[in-house]
Parts: sequence; C-alpha cells; structure tokens
Amino acid sequence: MSEKLQYVRHTLAHLLAASVLQKYPHAKLTLGPAIDTGFYYDIDFAGGDTPGDADLKDLQKGMKKLINKWTEWSHEEVSATVAREQFAGNQYKLELIDEIEAKGESITLYTCGGFTDLCRGGHCEHPNKEISTDAFKLDKIAGAYWRGDEKNPMVTRIYGLAFETAEELAAHEHRIEEAKKRDHRKLAKEQGLLVFSDLVGPGMPMWTPKGNVIRNAVIDYSRQLNKKLGFGEVHTPNVNKAELFKCSGHYDQYKDDMLSVTSQYVKDEMFLKPMNCPQHTQIYDSQPHSYKELPIRYADFATLYRDERPGELSGLTRLRAFAQDDVHIFCREAQVTEELIKVLDVIKEALARYGVGYWVRLSLHDPNNREEYLGDDAAWERSENELREIITKAGVPFKEVAGEAAFYGPKLDIIAVDALGREWQISTIQVDRVQPERFDLTCINEKGEKERIVMIHRALIGSPDRFIGILIEHYAGNFPLWLAPSQVAVIPVAEAHNAYAIEVFAELEAKGFRVEIDTSNESMGKKIRTAKQAKLPYFIVIGDIEVESKTVTLESRDTGTSEVFTIDALLTKLNAEKST
Ligand SMILES: [Zn+2]
Ligand SMILES: [Zn+2]
Repeated sequence: MSEKLQYVRHTLAHLLAASVLQKYPHAKLTLGPAIDTGFYYDIDFAGGDTPGDADLKDLQKGMKKLINKWTEWSHEEVSATVAREQFAGNQYKLELIDEIEAKGESITLYTCGGFTDLCRGGHCEHPNKEISTDAFKLDKIAGAYWRGDEKNPMVTRIYGLAFETAEELAAHEHRIEEAKKRDHRKLAKEQGLLVFSDLVGPGMPMWTPKGNVIRNAVIDYSRQLNKKLGFGEVHTPNVNKAELFKCSGHYDQYKDDMLSVTSQYVKDEMFLKPMNCPQHTQIYDSQPHSYKELPIRYADFATLYRDERPGELSGLTRLRAFAQDDVHIFCREAQVTEELIKVLDVIKEALARYGVGYWVRLSLHDPNNREEYLGDDAAWERSENELREIITKAGVPFKEVAGEAAFYGPKLDIIAVDALGREWQISTIQVDRVQPERFDLTCINEKGEKERIVMIHRALIGSPDRFIGILIEHYAGNFPLWLAPSQVAVIPVAEAHNAYAIEVFAELEAKGFRVEIDTSNESMGKKIRTAKQAKLPYFIVIGDIEVESKTVTLESRDTGTSEVFTIDALLTKLNAEKST
C-alpha cells in the first residue's frame, strides 16, 4: 500500500467515526486503522442503539456529506490530564492514553471538520481534495474483541473499502464476487471432493474417492519430481516422544502448537508430529555416512498435526491434519548452492504445470527480536547471504522480508499467485545449520574426520491438502485433464447407441482414463447438462453417425467446441494433453 493510500484509508476511518457519532452520539470510539483493502473502526455502542448492515448506506451518506467540511487537519500535543478529560467515560481511549503515557510518548489530538480523535497522525492533509468520494464504500459490520484479545469485551467493527480510484474499487468488488463463486468450500461440496465431520473434528478433512483422485495426482506429481532429484521416500510415524522435540528445539519454541498424546502404559510425554524434520535426522543418524554418499535426500508425505485455534480453521486454508510434500537434504557446505538451485528449478517446473504464478519471499530474521531465534549471528548471516545470492542467481522475482524466518534459519517462501491475483504462501526452502548441530549430524570427510553437515528443508507445493483448496479456486472447479476426478463422460443419444458407447467407455478405461458413462433414460440435453455441471473436461456424444463410422464426437468443457475422432486418434490426443 502506498503511503498516500494508507493516509487516505486511515483518514476515512476517522471520517467513519465522525459519521457514526452524528447518528449514534452514545458510541464510544476505540481504534480505526487502515487495512489492505480499506479501513475499519472498532466502536462500542455501549448497549445502546447499534447499527446493522442496513444502516451502512446512511453512515456512508453521512461520510460523503461531512467530507466537504474536512478541509484540513490540525493537531495539538496535550497532557495526559487534558486527554483524559477529553475522553472521559471512554475506557478504551483512557487505556490507550495510559499506555502512551507509560511509554513516555507524546499524546496528540487530531482535529478535522470539527471532529477530534486521539491519534498518532498519518492522514491526508486535505481530505476534501484528496479523497475521491466514489472510491470508498462501507462494506460490512462484524464483531471484534477489543485489541483482538478474546478476554476483552466485544466491540462492533465497521469495515470500509477504499482505493485510489473508483475503477480500482469496482475491480476489487468484482474480485470478491468472483472469489465467492470460486469458494473452495462451496465447490468442493458441490463436486463431492471432501467431507468434514463434527464427530471427526474441525480442521481434519476426509477426502472422498473423487477428491482423493486429485490428492493422489498432486502427490504423485511431487513424487515424480522428487525422483528426478534423487530423493528416497521414507515413511515415519505420527506420534513421537517429547525428547525428540526437546532435542530439535520444537518443544521450547513450538509446544503450544502441538497436539499431545497419552499412553496408558508409559509415562512418556508424546506429541503428534507437527513436522517431519526431527525424525529424518534420526534416519540419517542411524548409521555413519561417508562424504561420498552425500547429498542424502529423504521425502515424506506423512500426515502432520498442528493444534490450530478452532476459530481460525476454515475449509482447507487452515487445517489441524494435513500432509506436506516435505523433503530434507543432508549435504556438505559446498553442496548447498547446487541443491538449492535444483530445488528452485523444480518448484518453477511444478508451478508452471499447475498454471499458478508465483514470487519468492526471502524471509529473514528480525534483529529486534533476536531471542526468538536459535543459533549464533555468524550462522544467520551466512545462511541469509547464501539464500540472497542463490535467489538472485536463479533469476526469479523476490522480495526480502524481515521477521518471517523460522526460528532455526532463514527461508525462501514460495508465494503462489492465483487467477484472482490473491497470494498464498505454499512452499518453503530452508537452509538449516541448527538442527545438524543439535542432533550432532556429521559425515566422514576425505581426511577420515567427522564433518558437520547442513540440512535443507523443502516443500514443493507445500501441503497437498491446502494446495488443492487453492487449486479449486484457481481453476474455479474446472480441473485440467490430468487432475480431474472424472475426465470424460460418454453420453449415448438413445438406447440404440448404448452398446457402442459401452465399447468406447471400456476402451478409454482400459487405457487408464477416468471415465463415466450415462446410459440413463434421460434426454441427451439433460445428460449433457449433468456432465457440464460436474465440470468434466470432456464429454463424448454417441449417436447414429458415430456408431456407423466407429468414431466419437468429443466436446470440450473449456473451448465449447466439438471434434470427431477415431478412438485411436482420441487416445493420442488425450494422452498428449494429460502429460503436458
Ligand atoms: Zn488518525
Ligand atoms: Zn523440515
């Protein structure tokens, strides 16, 4: 967000507050920041009259009227006493004043168009001239805990959308509409891909046979790419003793996010694993390794468990149980660069196949929060420089962001960009010198001495479960041929065509395609509509001509065109499409 837009949005939050006070004088204002798509203001209506969605239009009208008088901001620094008088009876503002005072910072009041608020500043100077009244809109009302803490009272949050131009606002609203249509929770249900059950628990998806076709296709593709890079696939258990995580450091840094397990026979503290890395160190360390064997690479698709807050679980976006296409590379210092470049290449290849755009976030540690990270400064500096160099060399778009590193090392995070331009962090590459130290991982070098090795963590598309959620929305449910749960529907026009239709169906199925046949007595129009609703990539219509000439007429979901093929030519076409 540009500074200018940030100022506009924050100013609009004040303008909203002013409009609210006109209509609801009893309201207590709290905080009103700018956000990614506009602004909000959290307001306590103190048990009095509270606006609903129907009142947004009125409040918005109020804003547009008030803005004419909002010609210029003025501000003054005041003492805590004066500020407390100004906001007497408003416990939220009083709390903020106490905090500012305790920090020894100055307390400022900002005024515009006769409206005064406690604020640090950051407004557009002349709101009436700088804000386009058709580029903002009040959006919705929601509940929010004061300062995001569920122990605090609930206040009313009024959201507004704001952009630099009316066109940008319209484009945003269009994207939201489109996102609603593509909502993976809705489409996955319509297509019967997965199920959540209250009895199983929130955040733990169960894939139906149809959905699991997609899931397996995604995993198999990652497997295929792993194989190319020389990975051996391992299989590891879900439950682990706490000792493992104490050694890895997860116990201290990550315990609150792990689900614990108890046994009736042993007293060991145990957890469902939130990641595979610590276990892979144990496979590596189960025997001595010569430098000649390195790099050693393990892939693992085990299910992982994280104790996410139930309120934050939503569809496939955030889960308690999910797999990852997780791999670990155990290598020597001198091999790190080459391994990373290979890994980046494969991620590029994978995302191209899925047709998903991306950029890379170089996630660095936050020097102001040094205690959150394990390992010494030298190791951090070296890892961070190394990633910076490699990502520059790889020639992929990237941005550096401090504070996004893992507690044991910096990361390259792959941020996917979907068809609606939304960004999703999917996969991660990490160079780790901390775990090898903690687990004392070595190889025997040329001199016959023990040499400390490096561990690289990497996922390609991250979690298949979560990635499919992204893909459903990216494709709007129209999966490409290689991923589609059902690839082709065979539709005989009338009963007389069933025999040949069954022949075609059997031939396609024998050649490894996922085929459906509709021999019901429904009309052809109805059969085609059903196939279209199911979003199958292709359907084949079989009537007199096809039976006679031993051909098929193939209709495409994506182009809407139809073409006549012999069965052999059809197989060649579909096979070619499946593998590209
Ligand atoms: Zn302000
Ligand atoms: Zn790992």
